[in-house]
Amino acid sequence: MRDKLVMGALLLTLVTMTSTAVAAPSGSFGWLGQLGSHRTLVLPATADHSPVITLGTAVDLTTGQTVDGYAIVHYAKGGNGGGKPGSGGGYALMGAKWKTVEPWLLNPVNTGGLPYDPPGGFGNNNSTPGSSFAFWNTSYDIDKWEDAADGVMGNGSGTDILGDGTETFSTLTADLVAPDGLNEVYFADVSESGAIAVTIVWGIFSGPPQNRQLVEWDQVYDDVDYDWSTFGEASKMDFENIATHELGHSVGLADLYSPADLEQTMYGYADFGETKKQTLESGDIAGTDKLY
Ligand SMILES: [Zn+2]
Repeated sequence: MRDKLVMGALLLTLVTMTSTAVAAPSGSFGWLGQLGSHRTLVLPATADHSPVITLGTAVDLTTGQTVDGYAIVHYAKGGNGGGKPGSGGGYALMGAKWKTVEPWLLNPVNTGGLPYDPPGGFGNNNSTPGSSFAFWNTSYDIDKWEDAADGVMGNGSGTDILGDGTETFSTLTADLVAPDGLNEVYFADVSESGAIAVTIVWGIFSGPPQNRQLVEWDQVYDDVDYDWSTFGEASKMDFENIATHELGHSVGLADLYSPADLEQTMYGYADFGETKKQTLESGDIAGTDKLY
């Protein structure tokens, strides 16, 4: 962890140092054209602003099986919704788990303030592949869930659930109609107002339990409506806080909305400057243990 923190600090310094180069207009920086343009992830409309949006049925190209898709939206909400924190320890499962280990892709390009080092560096050819904050932090957050799979954190054993990631600067797409065999993570404008992030999962969630499985996850973080922080700044969304929660959906956990579960990482709302979801709590660990 210390190495990663140092790495993050170095990256932050690097980006700060090179920000002058970014600001300077230059025709040679084809990259800069992408910084100001945003794609919008338009989610199917729901009547009730529901955090779980049904995407319908499709055929998974990888397995040939019929799968269902869901988009799980993480909304911002100030305070605790009027509830009183309880002892918690709860968890909710989506009804499917991973039976295979698949790799994932992350495009770190964002306008929310998270450091990344584009191909060739900011004109200096010093790019370090895989070194963006979002990429290494996502890898780090996945490790937490995999560590929890045996019910004990920090004991050096767990289960490889989500596989290895690769940082890419290619255009990625969250799949709202049918899975495409790729597990993709990137930044964009999420259409729903108040949506901080959305995780899309495809899988078999019903029928004989032995047939149920997840086949794909995609994740989009909103860098238009929210600025992002690497260290819990009060006016921004802390990336590790939100990503750790979102990755809980990737492994098969559902949101919690009971006031008793306010302190669990899988609690359904998040707030500016919040960092308590960076660590897994008793219910998060118990749920992962139950699945794997
Ligand atoms: Zn959620």
